[in-house]
Amino acid sequence: MIIVWGKKHVRRSLGYVADFCPICRRPSAFNLRRVGLAGHVYYISLGEGDLVGHERTCKRCDTPFEADPGRYRGPAKKLAPLKELIAQTFPDLGTVWRERIEFENQLQQGSVAISSADRPPLILSPFLLLSPKVERQFATTHLDKEVGFAFAGLMAMLYIVPAIMHKVAPDKADDAFLFVLLAGVLLVLWQVAMTGRRFMRREIAPVVAQALRPLKPRTSEMSRALDELRKHGHKIGRKLKVSDIEAHLKQPAPRPETSTAKAPR
Ligand SMILES: [Zn+2]
Repeated sequence: MIIVWGKKHVRRSLGYVADFCPICRRPSAFNLRRVGLAGHVYYISLGEGDLVGHERTCKRCDTPFEADPGRYRGPAKKLAPLKELIAQTFPDLGTVWRERIEFENQLQQGSVAISSADRPPLILSPFLLLSPKVERQFATTHLDKEVGFAFAGLMAMLYIVPAIMHKVAPDKADDAFLFVLLAGVLLVLWQVAMTGRRFMRREIAPVVAQALRPLKPRTSEMSRALDELRKHGHKIGRKLKVSDIEAHLKQPAPRPETSTAKAPR
């Protein structure tokens, strides 16, 4: 018998904190998590593991960032409206992030002049911030709902087609079963291969577009940023298509929210 065991990252929620989100470009609510490295048997972790760090995940854009829990008064157990969460967990947020918040306000109002030398790092930044999320996604196999539908379709056809063939052409029933099996397996494998592409289109492209929108990025600027990341071995550089980001940038900007904190997921 083969026993599957090893180490895996285990994330445990500590509660909610307020902080600045460089993707949303404003203060936001975050889920603060402890990250441990624990042993596992058949991917069932044994405890919360040795501490390797903390991360905060934005409730608005779902992007995880490294976190220093020492900067907060302590995480709130319940998600409160942003103003309350700031007062409760990070009352110095406005002071600590003053320069950045001022810059973002000027950017939104179009009253800041960005030199051509300053644009490349500003364009690159959202891609770099989302790179760890992409690396994590592609480190393991993820199956999405399309793979589930393809598999369910295969199972249904393996039941239906032979039943029909036994009635209309019994001598061809075995051939039909093999044909459906082969075609179905190929369809499932194709859907598995497309999972990464769908993840990039659904989870990454809209978030990059949201972060880049105030900078009004040109196609060449985004291509250059992705080339740079590809050269340095970031998967986001190979997997993300500029055309997918542009598709979102062409859509009207989402209306600003009145309440910044979302309900817990
Ligand atoms: Zn965010």
